Amino acid sequence: MVSDLLTVDYKKDFPLLAATDVAYLDNSATSQRPTCVIEAERDFYLKHNANPLRGLYQLAMEATDAYENARIAVQKFINAKSEQEIIFTRNTTESLNLVAYSYALSVLQPGDEIVTTIMEHHSNMLPWRMAAAKTGAVVKYIDCDAEGYISDAALAEAITAKTKIVAMAQVGNVLGRLNPVEKAIELAHAVGAVVVVDAAQSAPHMPVDVQKLDADFVAFSGHKMFGPMGIGVLYGKKKLLNKMPPYCYGGEMITWVSRDTQEYAPLPHKFEAGTVNAAGAVGLHAAIDYMNSIGFEVMEAREAALTKLCFEGMQKLEGINIIGSQKWEEHKGIITFTIDGVHPHDIAAIMDADGVNIRAGNHCAQPLLDHLHCGATARASLAFYNTEADVQKFLTCLGSIRERMGYGR
Ligand code: PMP
Repeated sequence: MVSDLLTVDYKKDFPLLAATDVAYLDNSATSQRPTCVIEAERDFYLKHNANPLRGLYQLAMEATDAYENARIAVQKFINAKSEQEIIFTRNTTESLNLVAYSYALSVLQPGDEIVTTIMEHHSNMLPWRMAAAKTGAVVKYIDCDAEGYISDAALAEAITAKTKIVAMAQVGNVLGRLNPVEKAIELAHAVGAVVVVDAAQSAPHMPVDVQKLDADFVAFSGHKMFGPMGIGVLYGKKKLLNKMPPYCYGGEMITWVSRDTQEYAPLPHKFEAGTVNAAGAVGLHAAIDYMNSIGFEVMEAREAALTKLCFEGMQKLEGINIIGSQKWEEHKGIITFTIDGVHPHDIAAIMDADGVNIRAGNHCAQPLLDHLHCGATARASLAFYNTEADVQKFLTCLGSIRERMGYGR
C-alpha cells in the first residue's frame, strides 16, 4: 500500500525541507542534505581541522584519520576491493576528466574507438571528444530509441575490436532509465576495452557494486547523494590506476622530489594533488552512514511508489508528453516532459510560483534532445524524502498550467 510506505517523515532529517512546504523535485540536479551531514562538516572544522596527510601533530592526524575513514566508507558503499581504488575528486565531471586525461590520452592511438551513447550528460561526452581530438581516436555514439532503450544488438554492433573505451551512464539524467551496463561491460571486456560507468544518477538511488559489475571505472558525485558539494568519487581498478600517469601535479602526490626528478605517491594519493576537501569527504561519510541507516530497499521502494503516483497522475492530464519510456517502472525517479504549446521555462516559473521546484532546459544533454527532436524540456526528479503531498502539489500545478497560459479558455 503506497500510503503505508510513505508515512515515515524523512523531511524532518533535512533542515531546508523541514523549514518550508516547497515541493523540491530537482533531486537529479542536487539533493538536499540531512542535519547529520551538515553537522559532520561543521564538526570537522570545529574540532579536527588541520591539513590532512602532512602534519605530524595530533590535530593533523585526526584530520587524516577522518579523511581516510571516509575513503573506507566509500569503498564499502560500492564494494571495492581496496580503499586504494577510491580517488576523491570534486564531482563526477572531474572523475570522468581524470580518466580521459590520464587513461585515455595514454592508451589511445589514431583510429581507436571510444563508444558512448547519445543520452550521456555533457560531462560524459566532452572529455571523450577531447581525448579523441588529441589522439586521433574516434567517438562513436549508440543511439537509444524513443523510449530510451538501448538494445543488446546496438551494443554488440558498436563495440568492436577497435573499441578501447566504453563510457556509459548507468541511469541517464533525462530519461531516468536503467541502461544495460552489465552487457556493455561483458562485450567490452571480450574485446579488451575498459568501461567507464557514470553513476551520478544511480549511486544515490540503488546499490552500485563495482565488483559485481566488474566495471573498470565508476564516477559519482557526493552532492547528488545527500553529501556536500565539492566532493566526488572516482573508483578505478587498481591495476589500471597503477599504470596511469597523474592528472594533476603538485603537493601530496609525490613521495620525494629532487631538482630534476620525482617519485609519485602510491594509490590513491597519486591522483589527489594539493590540499584535499577533507570536510567534504567527512560529510560524504555521514551521508553514506545516513543512507545505510535507511537502506536502499526502503529508499528504492519509496521512490518507486512516488514515481508511479506522479507518472500515472501526469498520464491523466491533457497535453502532457512524457519523454522516453511510457512505463513508470522504467523511470528511476526522473520524469522529463513537455506541455503542448508551453515553453519549459514557463512551466518551471509557474511551478516556482506555486512552490514546486523542477528543472527546465536541456539538462546538459543537448545531443539526446536533438536525437529525440524535442528541444528544451521540463524535468521532475524525486528522492526518497519526497512525499505524496509533494507529488500532489506538482500534479495540481501541472494540471492548471495550460489554462493559465491561455489554452482551452
Ligand atoms: N553525469 C550525469 C548522468 C549527471 O546527471 C550529472 C549531473 N547532472 C553529471 C554527470 C555531472 O555531475 P557533476 O555536476 O556533479 O559533476
